[in-house]
Amino acid sequence: MVVKAAVLPHARGTVAVQSVELGEPGPGEVLVRMEACGFCHSDLYVAGLEKLPVAPVTLGHEGIGRVEALGEAVTQWAPGGRVGITFMGTTCAACEWCRSGRERFCPKQTNFGYSLNGALSEYAIVPAAALVAIPEDLPAVEAAPLCCAGWTAYGALREAGLERGQKVALFGYGGLGHLALQMACHRGWRVAAVDLSERKLEMARASGAELAIAGENAGRTLQKEYGGVDAAIVLTPSPAAIQQAFRALKRTGTLVLVGISVNQYDLPLVDTIVKGITVRGSYLGTRKELEEVFGLARSGAIRAHVHTHALEETPAVLESMRRGEILGRAVIVF
Ligand SMILES: [Zn+2]
Ligand SMILES: [Zn+2]
Repeated sequence: MVVKAAVLPHARGTVAVQSVELGEPGPGEVLVRMEACGFCHSDLYVAGLEKLPVAPVTLGHEGIGRVEALGEAVTQWAPGGRVGITFMGTTCAACEWCRSGRERFCPKQTNFGYSLNGALSEYAIVPAAALVAIPEDLPAVEAAPLCCAGWTAYGALREAGLERGQKVALFGYGGLGHLALQMACHRGWRVAAVDLSERKLEMARASGAELAIAGENAGRTLQKEYGGVDAAIVLTPSPAAIQQAFRALKRTGTLVLVGISVNQYDLPLVDTIVKGITVRGSYLGTRKELEEVFGLARSGAIRAHVHTHALEETPAVLESMRRGEILGRAVIVF
């Protein structure tokens, strides 16, 4: 079968929509007909890497689709079933992280749109164990961003570890930020949103942010006007945002790093120590947490703000993402 897919041809190549030959699903694999797939900033991160584990590679790790055909020995899925493709591919099932429910830290993991072909494709062949069950009552375009942006935002909130009434600052109000804001408000946290774009800040205010402020000097502004925050979650890959987020923290606050890039970051050692600051990275979440994210969407507590596009528009969408122009999430509809 020949299908259209958004393909990164080689490291630092230009993503193009092209025809790809797809074989039959092998043992343990499933053929999925894609309905929708969101764009994530880590698609740009992958496209900019100096080395790739596999090339060419189909991008996309926020995919919603239906099971079309089963390879041998697949018992947990049936044709017509609704499934999701996330960034998590296969894991070893034997290491200490796999055995403790933290498969996302498995050193032998594979990832869709990176070391496995991803979901920005009319059809995808996927290891059965990597698929996620998707509730029937969510529209595909709104479910797609939950597979990475929603899951990642939810995991980051867990790492922030706050209680009702405490203050969190979200640095970066894009696909992850707008879902993190809704989740935090739902928990009764007080939220400040920080971004460079005034349009995004307006959207944050309209969605329940107590404070929505520009990135420059955000740390000082949050100290002065807000008394500092109990946790700051950095959803952008900018080292400058990490420094502002650190400055925004109250004593004993927590800095959660989420936005990925190849950059290094610098933080003041003395303040980290004498103010008892915790710095932690957060990557995806547990399988159970992903189910909880879908539960929040079904109950109406969160809803992804999406703009839909055809697969052919992929290069233009990636360009708008690079320029930081997308409000919420851009999603391809097949
Ligand atoms: Zn992602
Ligand atoms: Zn493992």
